[in-house]
Amino acid sequence: MFRVRRVLLWWFACALVWPVGFRHTLSAEPLGQAAAEEDLRAKARRIHDRAITLDSHVDIAGAQYATPQLDPGTDHPRLKCDLVKMAAGGVDGVFLAAFVPQQARDADGYRRAYQTAMEKISAIRRLATTMYPDRCELATTPDEVERIAAGGKRAIMIGIENGYAVGTDLSNVGRFYDLGVRYITFCHNGHNQLCDSCNPAPTLGDQEAEHRGLSPLGRQVVAEMNRLGMMIDVSHAAPSSFRDVVALNATVELVRRGYTAEAIAKIWGGNLLRVWREVQATAVRQRCEVVPPRILGIFGGMGPEATANLYREIVRLTRASKDQDHIPTLIYSFPQVPDRTAAIQNRDRSIVPYLVEGVSRLERAGASLIVIPCNTAHYFYDDMQQAVQIPIIHMIRETADAVVARHPGCKTIGLLATSGTIQSGLYEKEFRARGLSVVLPDRLRCRWSMPPGCWPKPPSGHTPSSCCGQPRSRVGMDIASRLCPSTEP
Ligand SMILES: [Zn+2]
Repeated sequence: MFRVRRVLLWWFACALVWPVGFRHTLSAEPLGQAAAEEDLRAKARRIHDRAITLDSHVDIAGAQYATPQLDPGTDHPRLKCDLVKMAAGGVDGVFLAAFVPQQARDADGYRRAYQTAMEKISAIRRLATTMYPDRCELATTPDEVERIAAGGKRAIMIGIENGYAVGTDLSNVGRFYDLGVRYITFCHNGHNQLCDSCNPAPTLGDQEAEHRGLSPLGRQVVAEMNRLGMMIDVSHAAPSSFRDVVALNATVELVRRGYTAEAIAKIWGGNLLRVWREVQATAVRQRCEVVPPRILGIFGGMGPEATANLYREIVRLTRASKDQDHIPTLIYSFPQVPDRTAAIQNRDRSIVPYLVEGVSRLERAGASLIVIPCNTAHYFYDDMQQAVQIPIIHMIRETADAVVARHPGCKTIGLLATSGTIQSGLYEKEFRARGLSVVLPDRLRCRWSMPPGCWPKPPSGHTPSSCCGQPRSRVGMDIASRLCPSTEP
């Protein structure tokens, strides 16, 4: 039921003008109309009660805020907004602003501005987390605002008024974010290091225009805030700064599609939670683009069946309880790579550009590492690995390592493979390097007295999937169990 609640943003001006106008109407109209107005008033009250009502900006007094000297838990005469007044007025949440007045733009000024912001942020956090956790709660996402309001508490959100507090250290934006700050008003009265103000401060030496919009650092701060998912408040900003922010900020997609700033404002309708949600979602999307997940690249098609098989096995062996647990994977099936066995036999290197094209394409597409489900292609492993920056898993080395690790007593390996794989000598090389000898099918036949012609060519009457009257897999298991008694069939 809560989900259908409409969210309403109370602009400060609106809150002042509306009740005054109402009273005037009531006194001027005849009784019948007064009753109608009373109905309207009741209706307005019902709408107000249903809506989540937020105040987007309330400055706090200073570091003494949220102490016994200035207690927002009481109906305090010095506070225009406190927990008592919010409850009475039906205001569900408030952005409390850590205001920092514009001063000199030097190291000392920046240090003090940062300190002021930090002290005020601490005071706001103190109110929500230490003083009145039973009456209010810190909200850092729109969902939290809804949950807190539904529970009958006041949602406390944090804004910084004046990007002066960021100083010249971009990482301060992240520090503020970590403390719960969700918007920064870029400037106040006076130009600062981020942008031009609509209200230059001649006492600080301001000209009418300085950066003519955002400064280079201001652009970086916009990007950083978008990355983190913070709202950019352009109150007090010069029109040039406003224009630059709109062109750069989270609405960039709408701008690209040709929407004007006015049209974008209309789409969002001044709805703070909707804007916040959009900024948050855009930040997540951008983070996904900036820092892609590790993607497995499968260079396949040699042949396609082996490729499909490998992917099926990867899926089967991945510990996953839902789709999202599986490994992001790019599969490039490229069956036009010339025959590997022939290339090895004829020492024909014209195959190399095909293999390099395959791994390079996966690298360009964003793969973090590559696996190639084709034994013979590994004959050209060095050519491929030299062509890309990302690692290529060497299937045969991995196999040899796994055998050594799992069967430490095993000294001889039986190899069942295509003639191309055997001729490449890849397995023999890797196993020998690990102190193991390899028994090939021809020698196996002699040693284990298998009928002549059994391998690699099946005797007449036998299909390729069987050998000596046994299914091929059975032959393989038999060899393996005789060579390595510890092998589990
Ligand atoms: Zn303010």
